[in-house]
Amino acid sequence: MNRPNPMQAQILDGNAVATEIKAEVAAQVSELRSQGLRPGLAVVLAGTHAASEIYVRNKVRSSEQLGIYSEKLTPPPSITTAGLLEVIAELNSRNDIDGILVQLPLPPQVDSKEVLMAVSPQKDVDGFHPVNIGLLSMQRPGLTPCTPTGIMELLQRSGVEIAGQNAVVAGRSDIVGKPMAMLLLNANATVTVCHSKTRDLAAVCREADLLVAAVGRAGMITREFVKPGATVIDVGISRVTTRQDLERFFPGNEKRAREFAERGATLIGDVHPNVAEVAGAITPVPGGVGPLTIAMLMANTVKACRMRRGRRTP
Ligand code: NDP
Repeated sequence: MNRPNPMQAQILDGNAVATEIKAEVAAQVSELRSQGLRPGLAVVLAGTHAASEIYVRNKVRSSEQLGIYSEKLTPPPSITTAGLLEVIAELNSRNDIDGILVQLPLPPQVDSKEVLMAVSPQKDVDGFHPVNIGLLSMQRPGLTPCTPTGIMELLQRSGVEIAGQNAVVAGRSDIVGKPMAMLLLNANATVTVCHSKTRDLAAVCREADLLVAAVGRAGMITREFVKPGATVIDVGISRVTTRQDLERFFPGNEKRAREFAERGATLIGDVHPNVAEVAGAITPVPGGVGPLTIAMLMANTVKACRMRRGRRTP
């Protein structure tokens, strides 16, 4: 963790923690392989989103780097719900596949929830299946969603106190906000969940010792939302694509201006850069929550392998 300027928040380095987690996963994979077991991950990419293709490429590459067997399946974008259910049934029945990840969004004609519910809970490395959500809620061993689980790892490994703290989660999606709230509650935080109908969001957020922003709105959480010294986790990922927004969010920031000039865009989270002037600790975008999501997918694949094949989890 760096704190070069005392007026600036401590940076919670997601890249460093993700590297640490991946090294642990690689060691577990090599131990399993020495026993003749190789964890396997299948990634199903049916949509045509450019971003999805990049995410899937990164997931497959990370698997290979850690010694996990991986397979990418690309059914045509015209596939029906029934067609995808057949793909999932085949993967459910294969013994060499421990984890199944269905990359969202699926094509519009497909019933995404039906497809996600068809994944065997034992192979549900995204942790989206109702059985795993139930296990999380009951604090029983299971597979938990990658992004919020990665955030818990970051907090714990960075020494951020959770028990007894007031935690506010802005956003209530099934993949981030709700499981994040459940994980924080399980870790004994006092949790408030906010959404688009919350009255005076800024006032509620200002009560937080620990604020998780997962609303998907560029720079919406400004310093007025943050209690001095609070820990702020920025889940959002948006692209700044206009010069006007570049100036609004990053005035005088040469690094961002250079990146914008080279690529025509720069990334921003839900948290406005001015929050770094009041927060005690903060995750950057990029380099905060994003790398942890992939690291936890790898960790979940190995966990699924161990649980399914009756090996103890370290
Ligand atoms: P969703 O769009 O599914 O959910 C957004 C949530 O934010 C909803 O609960 C919504 O409320 C709430 N919200 C939206 N606008 C406001 C507002 N003005 N005030 C208060 N609450 C608001 O998004 P996701 O949870 O899937 O993702 C959130 C962000 O995180 C996105 O930027 C996404 O790209 C990013 N993300 C990043 C990941 C990573 O690895 N770093 C992984 C996953 C997501 P309501 O329910 O009332 O509509």
